[in-house]
Amino acid sequence: MNKEQKKDFETKCVHAGMGEYEFGSVVPPIYQTSTFKFKSAQHGAALFAGEEKGYIYTRMLNPTVEALENCIAELEGGYKGLGCASGMAAVHTVFGSLTQAGDHVVCSTAVYGPTTTLLNSIMKKYGVETTFVDTSNTELVRSAIKPNTKVVYVETPGNPTLAISDLKEISKIAHANNAIMVVDNTFMSPALQSPIEFGADIVLHSLTKFLNGHADVVGGIIVVKDEETYKHFRKTLNQLGGVIDPFNSFLVHRGIKTLSIRMQKHCENAIVVAEYLEKHPLIKKVFYPGLKSHPQYELAKKQQKGSGGMITFELEGGFEAGQVLMNSVKLCQLAVSLGGVESLIQHPASMTHFSMGREARMAAEISDGLVRLSVGIENVNDIVKDLEQALEKVNELQSKEVEHSL
Ligand SMILES: *Cc1c(COP(=O)(O)O)cnc(C)c1O
Repeated sequence: MNKEQKKDFETKCVHAGMGEYEFGSVVPPIYQTSTFKFKSAQHGAALFAGEEKGYIYTRMLNPTVEALENCIAELEGGYKGLGCASGMAAVHTVFGSLTQAGDHVVCSTAVYGPTTTLLNSIMKKYGVETTFVDTSNTELVRSAIKPNTKVVYVETPGNPTLAISDLKEISKIAHANNAIMVVDNTFMSPALQSPIEFGADIVLHSLTKFLNGHADVVGGIIVVKDEETYKHFRKTLNQLGGVIDPFNSFLVHRGIKTLSIRMQKHCENAIVVAEYLEKHPLIKKVFYPGLKSHPQYELAKKQQKGSGGMITFELEGGFEAGQVLMNSVKLCQLAVSLGGVESLIQHPASMTHFSMGREARMAAEISDGLVRLSVGIENVNDIVKDLEQALEKVNELQSKEVEHSL
């Protein structure tokens, strides 16, 4: 670890990626420009030839975007970041950079729904084959590896089941087979998990979630560990074109200043909510890495600095009960996405993971009765009270049904 990396994380959140700006501006200005003037024909030629450093065109690099990229690279302990238009643009850029026809990918079954769809549609069409396995079982990863496996792609905690995969062990398996270990770290953010420390080669995020934290930006980022990879990825991103814009970069960079305290509050609230739900008679099962009942509770403690703000639970009464609950909450808002200051609730089978198809969902253990809750930073008693009154509605419905059948 170098000196920079040792800086306390809270301090890094406030200062990472910051530089010296015109007029003594304390924060990076928003360079809302598509292109940059050259001082002369020679200067322009030198920039294109890479003989001089500078900005040419915003799709290639923009100072406001670069400030954000440097910030997140520092938080993840990587070399450089690449800002993308969305988390999915980041996922696509990763596979576009690393794979070609004939290559094989091993991917977690419990990943963000559109990631599964991307691998099963566009990447498949390009000749890249994927094996999906439950990466929380390390042995399944080992047996899925083929001679042509190029990428091992892991999301931990998984979406939406919150299964934890052993980053250190899986990195070893990937590297023993010359494959590249990619981790989607969206659910944890760099505040709670540092995949590079456990051997990951590439880390990506949907900035839309915890990193921005305010539900007002769509964005993504890729963090790489060395210059060669960075240059290669930058070329791919420039060709695919899915870059983040300066204004959104500014907003995300602003959001990151409070990342550390927001994540602390998400964790504090989520454990209270998870424990409340676990005791509730109408709830069959709660998935939260901070609960002792979580199958990888010990691994989560070892690998994560906190349990995060995401909870998944299964109601007695399945899908119908879930719909009553979602229609009855008042403080928690019925919406997809996660990681913002506000609590959000949604139903994976009919919403975020609908595009996977039922068969793939069942294989990934995403049952029809599963509800996903992104616990915000509101007062936790208000969140619990809201769930309590909504669960009371579910209870009323079920008592009526019992009466009816008598
Ligand atoms: C939301 C999300 C993505 C995709 O990000 P977008 O910004 O919506 O494109 C990828 N991975 C995970 C884990 C996510 O939650």
